[in-house]
Amino acid sequence: MQNFLEAIEGGASGEDIAAIPIPDSYRGAHVLRSEQTMWEGVASADKDPRQSLHVGEVATPELAPDEVYLGVMASSINFNTVWTSIFEPMSTFGFLDRLGKESAWGKRHALDHHVVGSDASGVVLRVGSAVRNWKPGDRVVVHCNYLDDQDPSAHDDSMLASNQRIWGFESNFGGLADLAVVKANQIMPKPEHLTWEESAVNGLCASTSYRMLVGRHAAQMRQGDSVFVWGATGGIGAYAIQLILNGGGTPVGVVSSPERAKLLEAMGCEATIDRAAEGYQFWKDEHTQDEGEWRRLGKKVRSLIGEDPSIVFEHPGRSTFGASVFIAKRGGTVVTCAATSGFMLEYDNRHLWMKLKRIVSSHFANYQEAWDMNRLIMAGKIQPVMSAAYDLPEVGEAARAVHRNEAEGKLAVRCLAPTAGLGIQDPEKREQIGEDKITLFQRHAGGEL
Ligand code: NAP
Repeated sequence: MQNFLEAIEGGASGEDIAAIPIPDSYRGAHVLRSEQTMWEGVASADKDPRQSLHVGEVATPELAPDEVYLGVMASSINFNTVWTSIFEPMSTFGFLDRLGKESAWGKRHALDHHVVGSDASGVVLRVGSAVRNWKPGDRVVVHCNYLDDQDPSAHDDSMLASNQRIWGFESNFGGLADLAVVKANQIMPKPEHLTWEESAVNGLCASTSYRMLVGRHAAQMRQGDSVFVWGATGGIGAYAIQLILNGGGTPVGVVSSPERAKLLEAMGCEATIDRAAEGYQFWKDEHTQDEGEWRRLGKKVRSLIGEDPSIVFEHPGRSTFGASVFIAKRGGTVVTCAATSGFMLEYDNRHLWMKLKRIVSSHFANYQEAWDMNRLIMAGKIQPVMSAAYDLPEVGEAARAVHRNEAEGKLAVRCLAPTAGLGIQDPEKREQIGEDKITLFQRHAGGEL
């Protein structure tokens, strides 16, 4: 892969890149099937991704006609990589085995190692014979909606495809590696004003937030809507806050420290709640919720914005869901895409039906939604929320930080990119948009805010 890196850094043409041989193996971050039961009986919080995520050589798979080999310059940590690395709620080898039974090309994925990672920025190295819109040398980013486009169910909203998967989580050959195998319909142009690392962190989280809030399949936020956001400086939350502000809404952001509240204010979110300082305890014990605490949160929101939120952006799950349903306004929407703290949820249905609220589910984004979100990033209307970048050998460290809720925004991982800050193609545009805006999360992590 060194030859590719030298060619990319030296500005080689697409033809020159296409002439470099694809190596038989490449460096990738992976978990092992032989270790999938290593933590039986261990509490989730005690599982350490540094022990299960290995970085080493893996065999390069054959390329299908609708795929490209991507030289990955940078990738990012998503919570799904945490799930894979702690083998929860189930081992992802089950996903690979199922994909392996679907087709001859699917069979390549059912291996004893799983190369993870659902984001990437990089350079197209080779295209399969059926790829029309991309060529070697193209600088691109990847979204993680992975599907079989010969299936009719994939042609209305592709997230409803019967075999829809998340690339690098439910499929192999993901982005936390020097090389990745990507379907042509996962590729989008790289924002030219961003570095490789800044470009790599947006695909999964930003597109997820876009569909949840803006896309026509979920909450469909309107101008003037007030939106309550849990984890407002986290991966998906930080994009949600920007989409709300960009779309003329009023965000109420929840975080768990004064430092995070400060970051949220620097993003332009005036109504902030520090859930740790407020000490909310929505569960009295394992079986009993505390409606008084829901009311206390509802009052706090009214005191900040003078009304109940039209939309609640929900993902913590068990610890917050009852409160989320309660605080949504009459006729309002709770939109959920996850359940980080537990997926067996409980809420009081009287507060839902008597007040005509809706619970709407959402999951990643279709190609059009991911493309629309990438357009906003390319236009400088939405900024990457990268707080730090790691090198690939430190991937376990980075996943551990996300698992322990120690990181703000997104953590990037440099793969082929040898040093920080490379890959900006349009410095003038970057200057116009503003270095301060683009690097807000990095400056916060560096203690500058
Ligand atoms: P993240 O970067 O770790 O941020 C999540 C934030 O949620 C944390 O920073 C934390 O913020 C807050 N939080 C965590 N536990 C909480 C709790 N018990 N109560 C209240 N707030 C809590 O993760 P992310 O990337 O934003 O992802 C969040 C969840 O969405 C994960 O479960 C992920 O797997 C899921 N997800 C789903 C999709 C999809 O397509 N379905 C896509 C992306 C992510 P504070 O401590 O500051 O409050």
